[in-house]
Amino acid sequence: MALSLSQLNAAPLEEATQWLAGLYEHSPWIARGALAERPFTSLAQLKHAMVRVLAGAGIEPQLALIRAHPELAGKAMVDQSLTAESANEQSKAGLTHCTPAEFETIQQLNRDYNARFGWPFILAVRGPRGTGLPKAEIIATFARRLQGHPDFERQECLRNIHRIAEIRLNDLFDITPTQGNRVWDWQEALAQHTDPGYAELGQLTVTYLTDAHRACAAQISADMRAAGCDTVHIDAVGNVVGCYQRDSALRISDEGYSPIFHKTLLTGSHYDTVRNGGKYDGRLGIYVPLACVQQLSQAGKRLPFDLEIVAFAEEEGQRYKATFLGSSALTGDFEPAWLDQVDANGTTMRAALQHAGLCVDDIPGLKRNASDYRGFVEVHIEQGPVLNALDIPLGVVTSINASARYVGEVTGMASHAGTTPMDSRRDAACAVAELVLAVESRAAQDADSVGTVGQLQVPNGSVNVVPGHCQFSLDLRAPSNAQRDRLAADVVQAAHTICERRGVQLNLTDTMRASAAPSDAAWQARWEAAVQALGVPLHRMPSGAGHDAMKLHTILPQAMLFVRGQNSGISHNPLESTTSDDMQLAVDAFAHLLNQLATPASD
Ligand SMILES: [Zn+2]
Repeated sequence: MALSLSQLNAAPLEEATQWLAGLYEHSPWIARGALAERPFTSLAQLKHAMVRVLAGAGIEPQLALIRAHPELAGKAMVDQSLTAESANEQSKAGLTHCTPAEFETIQQLNRDYNARFGWPFILAVRGPRGTGLPKAEIIATFARRLQGHPDFERQECLRNIHRIAEIRLNDLFDITPTQGNRVWDWQEALAQHTDPGYAELGQLTVTYLTDAHRACAAQISADMRAAGCDTVHIDAVGNVVGCYQRDSALRISDEGYSPIFHKTLLTGSHYDTVRNGGKYDGRLGIYVPLACVQQLSQAGKRLPFDLEIVAFAEEEGQRYKATFLGSSALTGDFEPAWLDQVDANGTTMRAALQHAGLCVDDIPGLKRNASDYRGFVEVHIEQGPVLNALDIPLGVVTSINASARYVGEVTGMASHAGTTPMDSRRDAACAVAELVLAVESRAAQDADSVGTVGQLQVPNGSVNVVPGHCQFSLDLRAPSNAQRDRLAADVVQAAHTICERRGVQLNLTDTMRASAAPSDAAWQARWEAAVQALGVPLHRMPSGAGHDAMKLHTILPQAMLFVRGQNSGISHNPLESTTSDDMQLAVDAFAHLLNQLATPASD
């Protein structure tokens, strides 16, 4: 018999603790501590209460919990002394059917891991979809995490323990994240299309207007139609546009419905990827709203407004220098000059568009009339470590950061590394090294600014020559233009001061400046209400990465919702991952937002 939340809320503490005793290996105290916070309105709320109990317990109880777990495919599995929950998980991941070679590899990893960290390796082997990770992936993850820092690895074990508990809780309550699974499966299917050269390596790369890119557009069109969109088309830049039309029986004059309720809600994200990228970057923001359309369509429900989902054709700037091609077309910022840009093979964008059967003359006509729309919302995987570290599944974006980029070159004096005394050098690399540390400390002074020197070169440097030249890049970001400008002014000042003191020449060129896109207050508040209605803790955060919403910001009020990424939120990388449970929460939050917009009192 599956448990229900109302039963759990009503039961005496010890009985309720007993029910949840299997969630955390031999550690019923975690559930007991969380149950003190009853009643719970959702499983997400209960899960986070347990996260907080463990986080507040301190390192020793955390380590004891980690050590209470069996080794993967270890002695306990072989002599069948696992808990019922562990036995189920290890068998679902196929660990009970290892080849002798796999078994020996895992045993060696177990020994190495234990020697390094002093506790067993913990991995939620049922994985992000709950159905079991392939053994090869388990072994690869094991080997990778063996290289981690002990503090990080302890936290990563605890995060995996919470994921294990989440899956066990779903089993206990007989809950399936049906729509989250669907969103997960849609993205898995879409990831089958990848550019030539990458397909062979099992890597995901979908750049603008390649065959794989066009196959993605066809796939997304089919998914949109099957999910219930009334109209679907591919526009002149390759965006896939699906519309779920409003309730045509509702009239503007109907009670409580002002004209604004009939304005279209625009949403979406991009389907192109970086080279060897992840499956969720961009695509999550297409399929989460599509799951809502499917739910509405299956229930025979209509909204009082059109819901327009745009799968943007290009955001990442991989094939051509220009970026945000898809969303620029909607805001009227698509530059005709971009059509003459060439890719690495010398193919112009114009030729690529024509080859794809798209009509470049129709691009200006894609510009949206802002007065037809109520706003733009975008769901996106976080692409950073913040939510993962906090163990919070969703984040509400306050602003897309402003940024400034520079390229710099310092010229000192090349001289003999053996004969030039330390006090008579003009070392260009030392000056830049000092600048790198100045950037680090100045950016850290603001809680939410970031500064990076990602490229650093001594051109034609030699092992026995004091560097005469050093080239570097500088990337600065902050949630507002003013904060970015203060940061940039201080860093530029520091660069000049350092170079003057060292007697070297600085040449700094401003290469890019992008304005912040602060979330619209009313739209941000809608996401916040949606997140809180799910019982998920509210976490507000700026977006350090650029997104299509940044473009739409120029014509419409916008706000974004972030979904936690696994593996420290790594993105632009095949390790990018998020669970179907978190995807389900994103679908639920989106559905809540739609409901708010459909309710006359909300505006
Ligand atoms: Zn993206």
